[in-house]
Amino acid sequence: MCISRKILNWYAPKDRGLPWRKTKDPYAIWVSEIMLQQTQANTVIPYYERFMAAFPTAKDLAAAEEEALLKHWQGLGYYRRAKHLMAAAKIVAREGMPGDFEGLKALPGIGDYTAAAIASIAYGEAVAAVDGNLLRIYSRLHMVDGSIDKAAGKRRIVELANKDISRDRPGDFNQAMMDLGSKICTPTSPACGDCPLRGDCMAYHANCAEDYPRKSPKKKQKEEDVTVLLIDLDGRFLIEKRTGGLLASMWGFPMAEGHIRPEDVMKLLSEADFVAKKPEKVAEYRHVFSHRIWNVWVYYAPVEALFAAEGGRTWATKEALKNTYAVPSAFSPALEVIYGMD
Ligand code: SF4
Repeated sequence: MCISRKILNWYAPKDRGLPWRKTKDPYAIWVSEIMLQQTQANTVIPYYERFMAAFPTAKDLAAAEEEALLKHWQGLGYYRRAKHLMAAAKIVAREGMPGDFEGLKALPGIGDYTAAAIASIAYGEAVAAVDGNLLRIYSRLHMVDGSIDKAAGKRRIVELANKDISRDRPGDFNQAMMDLGSKICTPTSPACGDCPLRGDCMAYHANCAEDYPRKSPKKKQKEEDVTVLLIDLDGRFLIEKRTGGLLASMWGFPMAEGHIRPEDVMKLLSEADFVAKKPEKVAEYRHVFSHRIWNVWVYYAPVEALFAAEGGRTWATKEALKNTYAVPSAFSPALEVIYGMD
């Protein structure tokens, strides 16, 4: 029996009943795939349901305010995904939804994997959706020695998977592979005894599944020391729209480079025309981005004089920080300090 038949026989009774598995609507599948890119399925479910209730079609999303979109995305992180989704929704609202893999790939934020997932599930196009799960499974099935983070290693796996994919049920084939990768062929301790593909698996027979996939050595993430300032004017906190670099155009607290002393905080505040009381260091934490790490010190700095919040800056109450502004998770421990205040 071929790999495609074996995986589909295994998949049929085990469909996980996830909300995006109950639809063929390309927009709904697209939203779910973007949310699932960096986040576990169980975490995504409530976000997906709220998102689809607020923006049920690409037209609704295209017409929404960016702030409303980001608010619905808050907690999922990787906000660039949400912005690309909105940019692409505007194109779809104008020109209609592309009807195949190549057309989908031309939209902002849609790469090979997402285009293949949508095209196979919504349109029945036989194109393998090659994500981390499928790369791991195929590198083990064929003991592929090329690194999967290099183009040649990945290309080899794309070819192999596109040969195997079911022509009748390509969407189910892709979803079955995703399930096999998340439940059975896991990165460590794969449950080979329960795997429907073990008869075809070279790594299983050679007893070396965990040696695959091959990867290039990891580059060390760049670490940065930064200071976050919680500037408090009678229970309202200064936030600003970030203008560049990490988290560009997201709301965040004013920051300084490095770990600075209380007297440096006083100096910064007086240079910005605040009358500051004694700042106090209230927290420190580490936030890991995909390519960078922030080591954060947080100061609480009450001020007296009203600082006119010009463009891109505003004073926000505790409630507004909770309900109105999308503040990324890199600032979550600082927000927790504010939420914990009387
Ligand atoms: S037999 Fe083991 S290593 Fe091979 S595909 Fe199945 S779970 Fe993965």
